Amino acid sequence: MSVADKTNEASDSSSCPIKAERPASRRVNGSQKTLGIGMTIERFLPSKQLRMIGAWAFLDHIGPADVSDNDGIQVGPHPHTGLQTFTWMIEGELLHRDSLGYTQLIRPGQVNLMTAGKGISHSEESPENRPAEFHGAQLWIALPEQYRFIEPAFEHFPTLPKSEISGLEITVIAGEAFGLSAPATFYSPLMAADFFAKTSELATLALNPDFEYGVLVLEGNISVAGESLDTTELLYLSCGRESIDIKADKASRFLLIGGAPFKEDVLMWWNFIGRSKYEISGFVADWNSGESKDFGKVEGYPGKSLMAPLAPWG
Ligand code: MN
Repeated sequence: MSVADKTNEASDSSSCPIKAERPASRRVNGSQKTLGIGMTIERFLPSKQLRMIGAWAFLDHIGPADVSDNDGIQVGPHPHTGLQTFTWMIEGELLHRDSLGYTQLIRPGQVNLMTAGKGISHSEESPENRPAEFHGAQLWIALPEQYRFIEPAFEHFPTLPKSEISGLEITVIAGEAFGLSAPATFYSPLMAADFFAKTSELATLALNPDFEYGVLVLEGNISVAGESLDTTELLYLSCGRESIDIKADKASRFLLIGGAPFKEDVLMWWNFIGRSKYEISGFVADWNSGESKDFGKVEGYPGKSLMAPLAPWG
């Protein structure tokens, strides 16, 4: 998707010590943003309190919302650089089109992974005939220096590996965790999993002590390491944990994302991740010229392309 407003400040990444003496946790507030036209979303990364979790640099919780009687999601063609966009669908449908020529409908339980690398453009829209409810998450993953100019790519994963621990239905959607391995290609050590509670039991989840983690409730309420958490806050967990105890209310859903602290300072502006103001200004000018070779053209979107806002440094 796209950062649709200009309040997304340019930000640098942060990191935590690989093994903290005592693992810390921190609550991170979401902030409401407008996605394209007609849809309000809750953004948890980047925020003033926290820039990244491993290579995860962006996290939007979208819905649940009724999209039967409005425009739903309509995000016109826009570019990306230096990152991968990762879409996880819980309810509803979304149609992706990109400058490589892919047109892909994503449905519940599926993942879309778009690798921008040196540059790509795409659009996302609620299809005309669609289910009433929309619920999903979109995340971005920063690419490390040696991979950030790779050729763009798009992958769709119709099924993901599933398991169950103490009444929690687990779907591993990125990386390896809980004995499962998701198929998507990544360039940093990271993981993501969706959990749905069938019963209210205490579950102990094994963690990688070299990873920092974030827990975001998508529906309902959970208790993490004795702390109560709902959909309004993300719980950040620093490195050094071997496991975590989670008790989810029945019919609650949550997302766990984790990764090795990202070692590079990244610069994020609008839909670009780069390393310098000069570089980002070049991406903005190139996209806004309308004649970019690197970003290509999206065919078939029934609306206008988005313009890149000028960065505050000009
Ligand atoms: Mn996008």
